[in-house]
Amino acid sequence: METHVLEARLLNHVGKAIKDFGLIKGGDRIMVGMSGGKDSYTLLHLLRKLAASSPHKFELVAVNLDQGHPGFPGHVIEDYLKAEGVQYRMLKQDTYSVVKRLVPEGKTYCSLCSKLRRGILYISAVELGCNKIALGHHRDDLIETLLLSALYSGALKSMPPYLRSRDGRNVVIRPMCYAPEEEIAEFSKQLAFPIVPCNLCGSQELMRTRVKRLLRELQAENKAVKGNLLHALTNVVPTHLMDKKLFNVGEAVGADPWLDGDEEPEAEPCATPEKKLTQLRAES
Ligand code: SF4
Repeated sequence: METHVLEARLLNHVGKAIKDFGLIKGGDRIMVGMSGGKDSYTLLHLLRKLAASSPHKFELVAVNLDQGHPGFPGHVIEDYLKAEGVQYRMLKQDTYSVVKRLVPEGKTYCSLCSKLRRGILYISAVELGCNKIALGHHRDDLIETLLLSALYSGALKSMPPYLRSRDGRNVVIRPMCYAPEEEIAEFSKQLAFPIVPCNLCGSQELMRTRVKRLLRELQAENKAVKGNLLHALTNVVPTHLMDKKLFNVGEAVGADPWLDGDEEPEAEPCATPEKKLTQLRAES
C-alpha cells in the first residue's frame, strides 16, 4: 500500500477513536509517550498531522523515559525529535536497577517495570502542564490484553481508550485503539522511523507473546478474527455474562448461544430458530 493511502487509513482510525471517545479537545496539552518503538513514532506522526489541520488547537510534548536499561540508545530518539522540530523532553530514571533488585530470579520484569514507568510519566505530565498522556497502544494490544486478562487474571477487561487515573490528576488516551498493528508496522517501515527495540533489558512478556502467536494463527484461518475481537469490546451483553453487579438475575432475554446455536459462526447464519428448523427440514 502506498504511504499516503496508509497514512490516510491510520488517520481515519485515529479520527474515529477521537470522535467515539472524546479523546482530544481544543486547548489540550498532550504528552506523547515516546518509547522509541514503531507505535510511538507512528502515534506522534499522526497526532502532529491532526494538530496541524484541526480547527481545535492542541499542543503536543513528546516525552521519552530512559529507565536505565543497559545500552538504551536514547540519543536516537532525541536526534529524531530534534530534527523534526518537535517540542520534547528526555527523562532519565534508573528503574532497571530497582526492578532487578526486587523481582525474584526467573520472573519477568515487565509488570513492575511498567508500574514504575507509569508513576514517573504521571508525575512528569503534571510537571509539564500536560492534561493528557497519549500512548501508542493499538487494536492488537487491546485484544491481546483482553485475552490475557480473561485467561490469566480471570477478568474481562482491556486497555481503555480513555482512562482517568485514580487520583484524578491524569488522563491517559489511546488514539490508535482502532488501528491494526500490521498497518502501523508497514507505515513505520515506509517512513523509516529510527526504532529502538523494547526488550533491551532481556525481559519479555512470555504470555503476551504466546497470545500474539495464537491470534496470528487464528487470523490466518479467518481474516475476521482480530476485527471481531475488537468489535466484541464494543458489543458487550452483560446479561449473558455472570457479573451480577452489571444486571439483575432474571433480566437475561433473547437468544441463547447454545439453544440458538450462535456458539460457532455459521456458514449461512439463520436469523431465527424457526428459520433454522425450516432449513433443517428442507435439508433432511
Ligand atoms: S520488555 Fe523491558 S522495558 Fe519493556 S516493559 Fe518489559 S521490562 Fe520494561
